[in-house]
Amino acid sequence: MRLARFDGGRLGVVVGEEIADITGLVGGDPQQWPDVNMVRLIRDFDQLRGTIEAALPGLPRLPLAQVRLETPVPWPNKIIAYPVNYHAHGREMQAQYRATNQGFFLKPNSALSGPADPILLPAVPGREVHHESELAIIIGKECRGVAREDWQDVVFGYACLLDMVVRGREERVFRKAYDTFCPVGPWITTADDVTDPAALDMKLWVNGELRQSANTRDLVLDIPGMVATASAVMTLYPGDIIATGTPEGVGPVVDGDRIRIVIDQVGEMNVDVVQSDQGMTEVFAQPYVPPIIKQN
Ligand code: MN
Repeated sequence: MRLARFDGGRLGVVVGEEIADITGLVGGDPQQWPDVNMVRLIRDFDQLRGTIEAALPGLPRLPLAQVRLETPVPWPNKIIAYPVNYHAHGREMQAQYRATNQGFFLKPNSALSGPADPILLPAVPGREVHHESELAIIIGKECRGVAREDWQDVVFGYACLLDMVVRGREERVFRKAYDTFCPVGPWITTADDVTDPAALDMKLWVNGELRQSANTRDLVLDIPGMVATASAVMTLYPGDIIATGTPEGVGPVVDGDRIRIVIDQVGEMNVDVVQSDQGMTEVFAQPYVPPIIKQN
């Protein structure tokens, strides 16, 4: 099942090129603040799934092209992100570490944006803002200390994610924290609709030029390992998002670019890049050009 958020916090099921509105069916006021309706839907999904499936044929549908898709989980408890989790990306960045011996970092929830929202480039002259295409894991259950072999019990689904970053040597979280630096979407594809998350092709284009192309089988720390590592440290909650790391081919985007990310069986997002006049900071006063080694 493909679960989306749209048109001001409404919840929907995507069926083909249409979306069925399940807001009334599953409860929750779209206007509430904070907007945790999707988090609740994820928590209660095992109980609600039968109701949703039974009602689906009779629910009114809108063409997807006529709605504004929004980031599916706007208020997760946290966004966990694994750095350098593909060897070829580690080589291009000349990083000596991998996610297996580095652990994770966190991105702020306020960085989340949706497929219809542009990525706003901060005003940081002399710096490059890079795209990182990533598979997102959406957690389904409150859990702690999950063993590798139990990972499927707590994974709810998957989405496309862009981990945007200002390149530099400053604190990683600082460089990855800007508003709109974490587009997620276009919806959550539930885990039962993904044959094998460890064998998914993922591609990213900028203005039609293929920049990143990889398969999740090349993850250094695999999905069971990412769930085990995160839950060894923290309680995970329904709706938590794990950014699983980017493969090689990262690079800069500029005003007017259009980023396309496609992950097999999960979805496709097309996101515009727009220069903003906000975000200046003395931290980025010195210019920096990353010494990236192109991989074959
Ligand atoms: Mn990343």
